[in-house]
Amino acid sequence: MPEVLFKVDLNKPMEEQATPGHNRWHPDIPATVSVNPGAVFRMECKDWTDGQISNNDDPSDIRDVNLNRVHVLSGPVWVNGAEPGDLLVVDILDIGALQESEWGFNGIFAKENGGGFLTEHYPEAAKSIWDFHGIYASSRHIPGVKFAGIIHPGLIGTAPSHQLLDKWNKREAALVATDPTRNPTYANLPTADSAVLGKLQGAEFDRIAKEAARTVPPRENGGNCDIKNLSKGTRIYFPVFVDGAKLSLGDLHFSQGDGEISFCGGIEMAGWIDLHVDIIKGGMAKYNVTENPIFKPGPVDPNYSEFLVFEGISVDEFSGTQHYLDAHIAYRRACLNAIEYLKITAGLTGEQAYMLLSTAPVEGRISGVVDVPNACCTLWIPTSIFDRDILPK
Ligand code: ZN
Repeated sequence: MPEVLFKVDLNKPMEEQATPGHNRWHPDIPATVSVNPGAVFRMECKDWTDGQISNNDDPSDIRDVNLNRVHVLSGPVWVNGAEPGDLLVVDILDIGALQESEWGFNGIFAKENGGGFLTEHYPEAAKSIWDFHGIYASSRHIPGVKFAGIIHPGLIGTAPSHQLLDKWNKREAALVATDPTRNPTYANLPTADSAVLGKLQGAEFDRIAKEAARTVPPRENGGNCDIKNLSKGTRIYFPVFVDGAKLSLGDLHFSQGDGEISFCGGIEMAGWIDLHVDIIKGGMAKYNVTENPIFKPGPVDPNYSEFLVFEGISVDEFSGTQHYLDAHIAYRRACLNAIEYLKITAGLTGEQAYMLLSTAPVEGRISGVVDVPNACCTLWIPTSIFDRDILPK
């Protein structure tokens, strides 16, 4: 087993850990550990909410969740010799659940606190707890389904430079300013409330907390990409923006559907991840990888071969308004079509089907994005995850 460089105690909040991690992006958050290129090491992670969700049948913890706590991350890891302009090569060697925590959660955030992709249709909080059986997951809250997970970190990334952070803050503030009272908000701007910045305290904490970016969106540094295929065996190439690269990660998922549509996650879990890191000097300019990471998925993938596929087009379901090649609306329509179908054939409520699409290894595709005026998005559901035949007869 590789050396554990970052340990977590699941009974303590992140700021009370022996080595606290962080829940914001900022170049001045100090690194917690350092490694040499070529190192293999293990990082333990809390779940993304810092342990706010309990293994029970009551969704009030989802409803009342403090989203200013998210995402609690393990790190930053300083990689000796990494400099701005390099590529940081990260191999995900293995991932697993912690022995004392072989379960995960999914849910639907209330519209007033978080929302989600289908929040206009499902505004009330709900929760599903998932139990792990080796590579399989099942839930007492969503009967009749069982599937193999594609375990992955929802969030992994390098620290931004001051200049890049400033760019993020300006562009996201400009978006929020177009509709400042919108619910859910267009973006989560910096807030010191519930910020954890390693061991920093006092004036330095106040300065950084005020300007540090929230971890909610994916950005140029990777971050919360929620790509289900970043599983075991994946090699990721990250742009390096600061000395030491300052790699951080968390938000482990036992499984997730493309789009992570409920926003309250895939199957959210605490766990461990084994990494190998290396550096390609000057790699950003050498390969023109300057704006976002690239990655090569690993060979481990559930081997589902038969799917039932739902289509959606870019027409708003409330007003019937025609939108121009809008993949967001088209994917929403595909998801809604799937949920309505699963209510009949899988015996699920709308909420259960919504949570299933966020957790099961469903494929989401932009199938057509040129056939004006409709984008066509498709949602591919593996048919064998159900204990019954769900095809039309
Ligand atoms: Zn997550």
